[in-house]
Amino acid sequence: MSMDSMYQQIILDHYKNPQHRGLPENFDAEVHHVNPTCGDEVTLRVRVTDGTIAELGWEGEGCSISQASTSVMSDLVVGKPISNALELQQKFLELMQSRGTAEITDADEELLEDAVAFEGVSKYPARVKCALLGWMAMKSAVADAEGEQS
Ligand code: ZN
Repeated sequence: MSMDSMYQQIILDHYKNPQHRGLPENFDAEVHHVNPTCGDEVTLRVRVTDGTIAELGWEGEGCSISQASTSVMSDLVVGKPISNALELQQKFLELMQSRGTAEITDADEELLEDAVAFEGVSKYPARVKCALLGWMAMKSAVADAEGEQS
């Protein structure tokens, strides 16, 4: 199996079987982000405890890239310290802005896990916003939640 088809399979799996889908009852912040160029939407809630993302859930609709990427992001950040989640977000953002030139290292793969599957998306500027939608929503929800607590 080629790298590309393996990556496509990861995206398809997350699209068919999204992780952390559903909005938790108890939450510190809720955000709603849209990607008008594609019509993708995501509503995302987080609960933060002691600087850690204790809970995160989302509902969304749109293309497979936006929904699968939100699922992958959720899997990666739930249970992690906020600083760690934001580091991953920054890393993913850099990958998406690489326009297909990024060399995925073993360290990247270890850090981003399934999120490296979206590497090919960076070649298509129109789709980059799809892949980033859930990550941007997570970033602003966490910032809101932290603002609430301080
Ligand atoms: Zn999209």
